[in-house]
Amino acid sequence: MSEIQGQQTAVRLYGPSDLRVDTVPFDATLAPDEVLIRVLATGVCGSDLHPYETGSIGSTELNSPLVLGHEFSGLVEQVGSAVENLAVGTRVAVDPAWVCGTCRECMSGNPNLCRRQRFCGLAPDDGSLRERLVAPARFCHPVPDSVSDASAALLEPLGIALHATDLARIRVGAKVAILGAGPIGLCLAQTTRAAGAGTVWIHDPLEYRQKFAEQYGAIALPDDAEADVVIEAAWARESVQRAMDIVRPGGTVVLVGIPFEDTVSFKHSVARRKGLTILMCRRMKNVYARCLQLVESGRVNVESMVTHRFPLKETPHAFELNAKYQQQVVKIIIENPTT
Ligand SMILES: [Zn+2]
Ligand SMILES: [Zn+2]
Repeated sequence: MSEIQGQQTAVRLYGPSDLRVDTVPFDATLAPDEVLIRVLATGVCGSDLHPYETGSIGSTELNSPLVLGHEFSGLVEQVGSAVENLAVGTRVAVDPAWVCGTCRECMSGNPNLCRRQRFCGLAPDDGSLRERLVAPARFCHPVPDSVSDASAALLEPLGIALHATDLARIRVGAKVAILGAGPIGLCLAQTTRAAGAGTVWIHDPLEYRQKFAEQYGAIALPDDAEADVVIEAAWARESVQRAMDIVRPGGTVVLVGIPFEDTVSFKHSVARRKGLTILMCRRMKNVYARCLQLVESGRVNVESMVTHRFPLKETPHAFELNAKYQQQVVKIIIENPTT
């Protein structure tokens, strides 16, 4: 075990809309299977905005300041004595869901359903909006030089989209409708096409986001659309019913968005008469290697979603802008360059 001692800058959430840039002690012990990461880039996620706006995580109030941030890339600065696959100086994308690897769900190929997982940036575990953190080596995926720090960070939301696409079992030439043109919806526009979708429709109530989605080959959802697969990625109550309304009989609806209230409702008669298959998307499985392949090959472009970049110290401003949907924001990257 090696000891790490010092101080660092960390952005911490204290309560509703109360993010502060703090200097905090950084004392950590590096276990044999862990690495010390210098954070290079963090994506601000819609799910970071929930705790930011409410000052609580689910139904629990924050009882100590929390560092948010779960979409991130970094540089390996130190490795534990048992780490063989990562060297100091390697750039990595870090999967923020630190699953146990030994429970029934992990062992049966469903690590996303692990009940013992820790999650970077979800209380009580601090996330990546700080300079450095310690991570288990097995969740760190090396990235080649051709993949930027921002793209490496965005493999995380891409992973969610890829898992939703896997769940949907899209057939070649299928008609797919995506509700919500936020970053997940934009990733979905690309992954569903890569999976063989013939038509990709997208709908977002924000006009600039609707327009933004066109660069990925998605077209505006017509009123009379009937899709084989509808993927809800909008967090909105009414879009769940919309999904049921526009999917064809026998079709598939995948729910990816997480509503503010912990309940969703839809008309039973519509879903029943159509005999729908309704799937819940819970994070992702082991998809990082495929995400990396899609980005490296250019079949998916995640960096093009980035509309704003801020240094770590300006994170509070970045969150305010994102929460208010100002300046046509799509994806914000918090940068932490090594210079
Ligand atoms: Zn996210
Ligand atoms: Zn497990």
